[in-house]
This record gives sequence, structure tokens and C-alpha cells, in this order.
Amino acid sequence: MRIEDLISTYSYAGDIISAITCFVLLVLIRQALFFTTENDFRQVSKAIRIVMIGALANIAFALVITYMPESTAFVFLTRDVYHSCLLWALFLFAIYMTKLVGFPPNKFNTLRDVMGLIVNIGIFADILSPVTKIGFYESDGLWYDSTYVKPFTVTYIICMLFIAFMLLGYRRRLIKQLRITFIIVELIVAVVMIAENAVDSNTYTTSTFLIPIIAILILVHSKPFDLVTGSMDKSALASFIQHTGKRGREVDYVILEIRLDDLREMPEGLGRLLYSTWQTYFKDAMLFNYDKGMYVMTIRRRGASDAAKARLYSLVQEELPIYYRDYMLDYKILALHDVDFVKNLDQLKDIMTYALGKMDYNTSRIATEDEIERYSKMEYIVEQLQDIAEKGNLDDPRVRVYCQPVKNMHTGAFDTAEALMRIEIPKYGMLYPDVFIRIAEQKKLIHSLSQIIVHKTCKAMKRILADGYKIDRMSINFSLDELREPNFCNIILDIIHKNNIPESKIAIELTEGQSDSDYEIVHDRISVLKKYGIKFYLDDFGTGYSNFERVMKLGMDVVKIDRSMLIYSLGDQRAWYIMKHFAGVFKELGYDILFEGVESEELEDLCIDCDADYLQGYKFSKPMPVEDLWKYLER
Ligand code: C2E
Ligand code: CA
Ligand code: CA
Repeated sequence: MRIEDLISTYSYAGDIISAITCFVLLVLIRQALFFTTENDFRQVSKAIRIVMIGALANIAFALVITYMPESTAFVFLTRDVYHSCLLWALFLFAIYMTKLVGFPPNKFNTLRDVMGLIVNIGIFADILSPVTKIGFYESDGLWYDSTYVKPFTVTYIICMLFIAFMLLGYRRRLIKQLRITFIIVELIVAVVMIAENAVDSNTYTTSTFLIPIIAILILVHSKPFDLVTGSMDKSALASFIQHTGKRGREVDYVILEIRLDDLREMPEGLGRLLYSTWQTYFKDAMLFNYDKGMYVMTIRRRGASDAAKARLYSLVQEELPIYYRDYMLDYKILALHDVDFVKNLDQLKDIMTYALGKMDYNTSRIATEDEIERYSKMEYIVEQLQDIAEKGNLDDPRVRVYCQPVKNMHTGAFDTAEALMRIEIPKYGMLYPDVFIRIAEQKKLIHSLSQIIVHKTCKAMKRILADGYKIDRMSINFSLDELREPNFCNIILDIIHKNNIPESKIAIELTEGQSDSDYEIVHDRISVLKKYGIKFYLDDFGTGYSNFERVMKLGMDVVKIDRSMLIYSLGDQRAWYIMKHFAGVFKELGYDILFEGVESEELEDLCIDCDADYLQGYKFSKPMPVEDLWKYLER
């Protein structure tokens, strides 16, 4: 055909609309209407850019033919760019679908590389058309463009078959609504393509590449705004935090909690005020609806941190409270400044819950650096503890056993000791139980830590015995919660057995619980383990919920009198009398008495006067690494 026949059926409209649509989509993506940091999403926006270039190339193709038909090179060049872009976009789309349907990740890379190769060969063959005379070429002033037998079409069909295969072959993994929509979209695309081929036109070809991408954006990645407040939803907040975190952008947060319930909805007027506040107050603000009545405003921090803080301050202390009071709704306003360690929504949620929990309604404040510092330390500790628990390595070097020798008053020797846990982690060094035990209990991680302590204590014990030192036993602290573990006894016995030491070399220290349900389980566990010769210590007697009757029934062996009781007795005749009385009763009932926190000669005398069996305290030794315990033991 003659050159002008190449575009005789072509209209610019299709490509112009496609290019404009691409441009608008890219703007929307920048405006965060659609965004996520996921790599998949970046593929989508890349595909949009490529389709846009394709559309422009096809417009250029028509322009070249119309206005400079003699420049053959430009004809080929624009056609090549056009075809390459379309095939590349299709490839990205195909790969995106592969991910979306959950294609097995282990085979994913291979599949992607194979497809990439096929598409690149297709593009290459297409570019070579003028030479190979297959596809689109010119010969003796006439142009040839076969409809089906050309590299572009072949590659196109391979990709479409591939997508169809993914959609049908892995259909179970894709939620039904998505799957059906995609199938319908692909069918429409196929019909358009066939119709276009029938009339030998490519006016709407580009848009068929764009339609499935738009479907993806809307179905998978759209982040709609709430029209009243202008806020986006929680998942948008999650994406936003990850996004900014990865880019190292600094963000402050203002959290607005309004007490709404089933009866009280967000008043429209207040919603609008909120909207105008975040829209006008800060250029770089965004509003998210985290939960009912819970709004999170994010503010990109630019420039000096002090200035940002001052702006936050006036917002939180002056502007917002006025609005809220007008509506007679209870509120809390919390600003978080300098919280760059927040890298995901869970962390923000934790810090929000923590800081809001310490606030009264109808107050506003900026969380102090100190508080945030404490919080971030806690967060880090939790991460470390979780990691220790997940790894489940009984020799984890981060968990350290310290111990304190206990003096036996009958023999005068140190022949027992208490194991005390320490955690040594990179950022904060050595941590003491007061910093991590409560957290570990709350996060249900304590049992994993205890197992490590048991294992390491057994190991140390084995060494001590092998070296010929005399030691009766070492006692290990447990939290009552751990005893609820269904397999508690077996787990402990197992560790002892694996270390090949007699069970009686290990003792268990428990602090009394308050609920009766604890009692049943504790009683059970104690009777099982006692059969193996494991002794039980009642820790911290004199604090908390000492219930004499229950203590008796539990079958403890040693009662540890808490240091507070000892200190109290020092200056108070009656307290001393009560303590002495308790000690006497326990002894008469067959318990051994251990006094803890013996720091001085004076306290030691008090204990001797109470007929103590064991003494433990700084007077004899501070806790030390278990490896050093031998220094206190006799051969
Ligand atoms: P606890 O069981 O009452 O342990 C005795 C605590 O008193 C130890 O503190 C010890 O260092 C300290 N202490 C010893 N002698 C003296 C003294 O003469 N004067 C004073 N003022 N203090 C003395 P530590 O090691 O900081 O442990 C604190 C608590 O953490 C323990 O109290 C125990 O309840 C808990 N804990 C320690 N290790 C573990 C563990 O492995 N598992 C569990 N669940 N809790 C543990
Ligand atoms: Ca203890
Ligand atoms: Ca104690």
C-alpha cells in the first residue's frame, strides 16, 4: 500500500485520550489517591508511563506520515517505540497479574525471566521487520503491514494467553469479584482488538492497554477520600507510613480521638471543620480515619524541627480544642513529634494506645521526647524479645543467666543459688528484669525466655558438678502465667534431661497469684514436678496476696521472706515480732525459711534471730554471671 494508506483508518482521538488519561492517572498517583510502596504498585505506575509514551509515539507516527512522508527512518522509529511500549506495558501487566493471583514465589523469578525474554525477542524481531520483511516493512516505495503474521501480534497473543492462563489456572487464589472483573475487562479488550484488526486500524489499541490498568488501580489500589472530613481510611494510613518511612521523610502526627458511640456519629459540621483545618492549616498535611472517632493527621515536616513543633503546639493547644468544645464532644488530642522510628501502622498504634491511655478526656498535649524515647526503647526491646522467642535457640547469647549464691545457715556454706535473668541486646546493653519481665509477660514471650534460662542453668550446673564443686540446687524464677502452658512440665523436664543432670538440682520459684483459677493449675503442676524431686520456693512472701491456707496446700518447700518485711522489721518492734512469728510458724510446719535482701550485718543478725535456714543478699554477693558462681562453692 502507499504510505498514506497506513493511516487512512486512523484517528488521533484514541491516542490523545489515552495519553491524557495516563497523565491524569500519574497525577492522581502523586496526589496519593492511589499509592502503596509495594513493588507491584510501582510496576503499575511504570506501565502507565510506558503506555503514555506509546500513545504519544503513535500520534507521532501519524504526524510523520502526514507531514514528512519521505523520512522513512522516522516512520520506523515511531512505530518501533509504539510497539515496544505496548509490549513492555503488557509484559508488566502480565507479571503483575502473576503476582496478584499468588503464583508460587519460588518459581516466580524464572517465569518472569522467561516471559521477559520472549517479550524482548518479540520487540527485537519487530524492530528488525524492515530487514527481515516480516511484519511492517517498505519495499520499492510500497508499504506492507501484515495483520497477523508479525512479531508484534505474535508476542501480543502470547502475553494475552499467558494472562488468560493466570486468570483461569489460578482462579481460586483471586477473589471472585476481582477475577470476574478482570475476565470481563480482558474479553472487552479482545473484542476491541479483533474489531480493530478487522478494519485494519489501531485508533483504540493503546486504550485497550490502559483499561486493564485502570481496573487494577480501582480494584486493588484505590484509597478513597471520605467526603465529609476529607480523610482516607486505615489501610491508606498503613501505606502512607510505610511509604514515608522508606523514603526517610519526616512526619509528625496529630491524633484526634473523639468519643463517639453507637448513638453519636461524627457531626457533619465538625467533619467539615476538620476538613478545613487540615486543608488550610498545613500545606503538607493529610488526614486519615483510623477508627471510629479516631483521626490521624500526618504532617510532613520540612525545615526546622523547632518551627514545626511550634506550629503543632498552637494547633493542638489552641485551635483544635476550640472546635471540639463547640460540639460538646469529649476529645483527646495528641501530637507526636520526632517519632521517626515509626515505620508501620502497628508501631503507630502501639504508641498511640500507650500515650492516649495516659491522657484524660478533653485534654491535648504533645508527647514528650522522654516519653517517646521510653516508648521506642520498649518497642525495640519487644522486637528483640520476639526475635529471641521466634528463633527458639536455647543457647541464644542475648539471654544471660546471672545468679546469687545463697548461704546455708546450717552448714555455713553457699550450696544453693538463685538464677536471675538478664537480657543483653545491641542498642541498650545489659537490661535488668524490671525493664523487660513485665513486657515479656504481657506479650506472652516469657515462657520462651524461661526455657533458655532453664537450659543455661542446667548447662552451668553440669559444668559445676563436673568440676567437682558442691551445690545442692539452683532455683529459677517463673511467672505464674507460664504454668498455664499445657506442656509446661514436659518442656521443663525435657530440658533438664537433655542436659543430663538430676532433676533435684533445679528448683522453681513462684510468686503467689491472686486468682483461684491460678491455684488449681499451680497445684497440679507442682505435684507433677515434685515427684521428680524438684523443689518449690514461695517467692516474695510478705508482699501481695499471701493467703496462708493456700500457701499450705500448694506444697512448697522453701518460703522466701521478702526484703521489704525485713527492712520494715528493722525499725519497728511490732513488725519484727510479726515477722518472727510467721517464720516460726512456717518452720514448725516443716518449711525452710530463706531471707532475701540481706544487705548488712544488722539485717543478718535479725534473720539469725528468726532461725533462718538460708540467707541471700548483697552482704554476701551481688548477682554475678553464672560462670563465676564456682568461686563461692566448696569442692
Ligand atoms: P526476685 O525473685 O525477688 O529476685 C531478687 C531480686 O533482689 C534480684 O533482682 C536481686 O538482684 C535483688 N537482690 C538480691 N539481694 C539484694 C539485696 O541485698 N538488696 C537489694 N536491694 N536487692 C537484692 P533482679 O535480678 O533485678 O530481679 C528482679 C526480679 O525479676 C526478681 O525478683 C524476679 O521476680 C524477676 N526475675 C528475675 N529473673 C527472672 C526470671 O528468670 N524469670 C522470671 N519470670 N522472673 C525473673
Ligand atoms: Ca526470686
Ligand atoms: Ca523475691
